Amino acid sequence: MALHDLTGFEGRCDAIVFSQDPGFQPPNAEPPMGEFRRRQLGVQGPPDDGGSFDLVVVGGGVAGTAAAVSAARNGLTVALIQDRPVLGGNGSSEVRVWPEGHTLQQPFPRVGEIVEEICPPRRVKGNQNAKDKELYDDDRKLAVVRAEPRITLMLEHRVNGVATRDKHILSVTAQHIRTARRVEVKGKLFADCTGDATVGYLAGADYEVSSEGLMGASNLWSVLDQADSEQVLKCECKDKDALTVLAEAGKVEAPFPRLPWALDLSDKPFPGRGTMKSDHQGQPLDQLGGWFWESGFDKDPIEDIERIRDLNMRAMYGAWDTLKNIEKVYPNHRLGWSAFIAGKRESRRLLGDVLLTGKDFHEGKQWPDPAWPNTWHIDIHTPHPAFRKGLQGDEFISTFTRGKEYSYAGPYWGPYRCLYSRNIGNLFMAGRNISVTREALGAVRVMRTCGMMGEIVGKAAWICVRHDASPRGVYASHLPVLDELMNQPGAMRRNTLTGPLALPK
Ligand SMILES: Cc1cc2nc3c(=O)[nH]c(=O)nc-3n(C[C@H](O)[C@H](O)[C@H](O)COP(=O)(O)OP(=O)(O)OC[C@H]3O[C@@H](n4cnc5c(N)ncnc54)[C@H](O)[C@@H]3O)c2cc1C
Repeated sequence: MALHDLTGFEGRCDAIVFSQDPGFQPPNAEPPMGEFRRRQLGVQGPPDDGGSFDLVVVGGGVAGTAAAVSAARNGLTVALIQDRPVLGGNGSSEVRVWPEGHTLQQPFPRVGEIVEEICPPRRVKGNQNAKDKELYDDDRKLAVVRAEPRITLMLEHRVNGVATRDKHILSVTAQHIRTARRVEVKGKLFADCTGDATVGYLAGADYEVSSEGLMGASNLWSVLDQADSEQVLKCECKDKDALTVLAEAGKVEAPFPRLPWALDLSDKPFPGRGTMKSDHQGQPLDQLGGWFWESGFDKDPIEDIERIRDLNMRAMYGAWDTLKNIEKVYPNHRLGWSAFIAGKRESRRLLGDVLLTGKDFHEGKQWPDPAWPNTWHIDIHTPHPAFRKGLQGDEFISTFTRGKEYSYAGPYWGPYRCLYSRNIGNLFMAGRNISVTREALGAVRVMRTCGMMGEIVGKAAWICVRHDASPRGVYASHLPVLDELMNQPGAMRRNTLTGPLALPK
């Protein structure tokens, strides 16, 4: 038996069901489909016991990873649940976005030291997106987490259920992304670092999401020169046949087939075609596959994410088809790498006791509970007017906000009260799903900044456990303790929950 993919290069086959009944139709909606699937896999019944922790962090992007490390170093037992085999989220080798944002800022120059361990400063000059896999430090992130004995790391587990009582989360259920086995993970406190606010949403937390005009998602991509053997040797394409069957060693030319299912860009402008440029500086080849190849501006970032991803891919293939077969340029180049996971910028944002706004940034509003420094400008993306004609709803090139209107005096410290839910008593959040308006998201969303939010959540979680306080109670009664912890080196650890912080020998 063979499976023949008729969908093009990016076909996906999730499962194959064999049946002796020719009329058999598997269920095609949840929850019956999930139940059917688990029955077939022999993993039905209640979820297994995944343990009980002081803090359960869901989402292992830079924010979640920093939250887990910070909490564990403060003496808490932590579960870090991440739905991918690697940590780092958009900053991982799967998505390949380079982390930005300044750490170690006054008056709390220790905040960001854990981020520095996870995402060290840039090592090569120029644009850092969609480069070689090693640059994104997957192994380093895993090593930092695995060096913490109090962290239970659950890779390839996706949280899709939450149990609550009286506006408190009791547990989350996580499903293994390949085996479908489920585990229930209990906790005193939870941190939603999913970017989509999935835990908060499932728990009934208050949230906001833009219904239109969102920042989109990108699948970064790059091309390589077939004549450059160093580049070719580094290429990680497993599926060589589809793109390179005629371009193996000894042959330099790299032909590319016409693709009827790709976006038809034969009569459309796009960056990298002729002398056309996006807002991104650089050579013509630098105009291909960068951050501005972005779509989904008017789509639902959760329900429609597969559609958005596919549109990004169809734009990539359509552009390459046009360049190779219509413009007849780059005969020796071929597609080198493309992210198969869409990197998201904007999604649900959970509401805390403070909703940080763009106006706060402009006016430099000071807070009694400064928690993390923001240094990135208010960077909001919209469809690029030069490239949207004839593509309404399917725009795939963005532009960004800039100029005085979108700058502010930095570092600008955001308040701790954006980092916990206003209506779910034991829920923290860190990363791009914190309590900010869409405009403020433009500034807080860069990864090193998100990581510092995580550091603060880890410290605040220790205060909650040690002083039997809620996340809100930390602000109400224990702010001086939080300030004190923010002045401690990120490498410090406690041996026990009540012991002192000390540097490891
Ligand atoms: C193309 C692009 C370019 C960008 N450019 C830059 C840039 O140059 N520099 C910069 O710093 N920032 C940039 N950003 C923004 C930045 O990447 C994000 O704002 C940032 O990654 C947010 O960090 P996070 O940890 O909150 O979320 P994410 O990085 O999205 O991480 C969330 C993690 O949670 C996991 N997860 C989600 N749901 C679940 C679940 N239910 N169960 C378990 N795990 C789950 C995800 O797999 C992911 O690993 C860019 C974004 C994009 C898409």
